[in-house]
Parts: sequence; C-alpha cells; structure tokens
Amino acid sequence: MAHLSPQLKQATPVVATHGEGVYLYDESGNRHLDFTAGIGVTSTGHCHPKVVEAAQRQVGQLIHGQYTTIMHQPLQQLTAKLGEVLPAGLESLFFANSGSEAAEAALRLARQATGRPNIVVFQGGFHGRTVAAASMTTSGTKFKAGFSPLMSGVVVSAFPNPSTYRNLGWDLDQVTDFALQQLDLVLQTQSSPADTAAFLVEPVLGEGGYVPGNERFFAGLRERADKHGILLVVDEVQTGFGRTGKFWGMDHFRGAENPLTPDIQMLAKGIASGFPISGIAARTEVMEEAWPGSQGGTYGANAVACAAALATLDVIAEEDLVANADARGEQLREALRRIAADYPQIVDVRGLGLMVGVELADADGRPDTATAAALQQAAAQRGLLLLTCGPWTEVVRFIPALVVTEQQVDDAAEIFADAVASVLG
Ligand code: PMP
Repeated sequence: MAHLSPQLKQATPVVATHGEGVYLYDESGNRHLDFTAGIGVTSTGHCHPKVVEAAQRQVGQLIHGQYTTIMHQPLQQLTAKLGEVLPAGLESLFFANSGSEAAEAALRLARQATGRPNIVVFQGGFHGRTVAAASMTTSGTKFKAGFSPLMSGVVVSAFPNPSTYRNLGWDLDQVTDFALQQLDLVLQTQSSPADTAAFLVEPVLGEGGYVPGNERFFAGLRERADKHGILLVVDEVQTGFGRTGKFWGMDHFRGAENPLTPDIQMLAKGIASGFPISGIAARTEVMEEAWPGSQGGTYGANAVACAAALATLDVIAEEDLVANADARGEQLREALRRIAADYPQIVDVRGLGLMVGVELADADGRPDTATAAALQQAAAQRGLLLLTCGPWTEVVRFIPALVVTEQQVDDAAEIFADAVASVLG
C-alpha cells in the first residue's frame, strides 16, 4: 500500500479537512486552534474569503503562464504592488516557489554580482532544505546530516543569542559586541573580504529558536558590508509580511539614521496565504549582474499564486493586520510570562509580534527537548496546535495567523496554562 515517507512525522495528530481563520477542523469534526499557521504561511488565516475569491477568479482566467516565456498580468500587478511595501531601493524582483529556492536565488545572485565565493551565515540560521540552502543552515544537524558533501564556501559566525548571555552572565550589549568581534575574526581568519560575497542573516532566528537580532548588530553588519563591498542578504521568509508586528522584520532595527536596507531580501511564506510563491528583491544594479539563464523555473510566479498574493497584500492593509500582530503578540507574551512565573523550567518568553517562543530548560539550565515536546503534545490534546524550534528543539513556538483575535489569544493562553500544569505541575 502506498504511504508517505516514514520520516515525515506529523508533530500533531490532526488530519485536517478544512480551515477557517485561526481554526482547523479534523475528520471527526473537532475544532483546533491553529497556532502553527502552516509554519507562518497562512498569514490572513485559513481560506480568507478575499483570498479564496481572488484565487477562484484567477483559476477561471489563467492558471499557468510561464514567466520566462510569457508575461502575465497577475505577475505584473504583484511586482508593482510589492514595490509599494519593499524597502526603498529594492526594486528588482525575481520569483520562485519556496523559501529554499529564494535562498538559492540569493546565493547565486550574490556570487554572480560580486565574483566572490563565500557566504557568511550566522549561528542558528535556517534557510531551507535544498542542498545549498541546507549548507547555509546552522540551526540543527538534522537539516544537513547524511547527505554530505554539502556546498562549499559557507562560513559560520555568531548571532547575539540570549542563551549565550544567560550562560555567561552577559547582557545584550556584551553579546552583541561578542558577535561583531566574531564576525571581524571570521573576516580576518576564515574568509577574507575579497572572498566574501555576502552575509546571509534572519532578522529573527526562526527555526533557530525565535531569537530576535538587535539594531546594533544589524548596523554592524551593514557597516562591515559597506566597508568591504560585501552584500547584505536578509532572509525575511518567516519574518516578512507583518509577522513580527512590523511589515518587515528588519523594520524593528531600522531608524532614520540607519535605513539598514539589505542588498538582497528573501520573501516567501506569508506573502500569499498558503499558495506557493517566493522571491528575492534586490537593488537593480545587483540584480543586473544575474547571469542570463540563471534565474527561472517552470512554475515560478504561478498566476493563481500571484492573484492570491495580491489579495493577501490587500487584506493585510485593509484589516490592519500588522498592528494586530503587534498587539496580539504583546498580549500573548504577557500571558505566557504570567504562566512562566510559576515554573522555573520556562527560562524565557520572547519574540516579536506573532513570532513567540517559550524556552524550556532543566534544573541545570540545559535545553529541555523532552518537555518542549510534551507541552506540544499536551496542548494538541487540548485543541491548541503549536510548533517547536531551537537547536535542541527546546522552544515551543506560537505563530498564529495575523487575523488572530484577542479572545483567541486568551483561549490559547488558557489551554497552554492547562497543558503546562499537566506536564510540569
Ligand atoms: N528561510 C526561513 C527563515 C524559513 O523559516 C524557512 C522555512 N521555515 C525557509 C527559509 C525555507 O522555506 P521553504 O520551506 O519554503 O523552502
């Protein structure tokens, strides 16, 4: 009998039949509060009526126009619309189907544009599962073990991470200084600037444990990139489109004095409420360096996905979802901090907007994988679907659709408190 690959282990027991907003329904008619949002993909919730309507209309007009052969209207419209929300200067776009492909595209472009081989990535980063994207990923050996040799030309530097300062007794400034010193050391000892094409970094480590960067760290990256002609590539695959309570994750770290514009920015996930489309946005003079034929793909910028992305961008604006993500994220973190106060095993509640992580540690302060998994299971049994992340899978993460209401956040916190009491109580 045909069956799915046994390594595709579902983290929850749900077999979904349909979804609506923040709810998923299963075969037995049970309703689940979905705080996974397809790993942050269903930004406007499951089956938002405007997204459904746009996609249905597009299916009846044109499903597939292959963009290296024939331009189609939804792609033109999406390109123009993204121009309204992208950071100034990122005007040239290329589209693909997944975050991993966006990472591949960014890598190819950075090497082509600079003529340099190496990519500096940051400890705990996740950029995807294709061989090149996995090679640039450092948030878990599970993403890269067993299929070496990986792509060469990847060098790893430090990210300012709270577990570092917790363990060493440092504050955030000291950790940031350390991370920037490590980067200087990397450029001095492992990958000279003349060999370094790009820094590739997430505004908030996603799979790496929901760890936000900070203004000084990113300013330090931009400064070093400018000094050495290195490109700054920012992976906004998980953080983009309002997820963090600002439109882009990097908006948390930008200021009038420091616009912190990347040279290449990756886009995917929340862009189209679940339709597979991704892309990179780059400065025009960088994108012009792409070698002919090196950008493309049969399914890139599918017309239905483009129509869904256009509707998603409209809904995000019309329903003020970025502000909602900010307010609901704050509410959720406060509720989780109240729960954490009673349990020393919960060592951190963190995140930006609706990227919220709860870190578990044992009595010796070591990452507690088993408790994170047990909490995920206990919550799922009570109707709340959650994910985990972190290098040791020691962080429980909350990533609901941006349409989540105040009541639904309260409901989720209540269920989680009950799950915590049952596992740790
Ligand atoms: N970059 C980041 C920051 C991600 O979070 C992910 C997916 N979790 C990816 C890239 C890869 O995206 P995909 O799974 O669509 O290939």
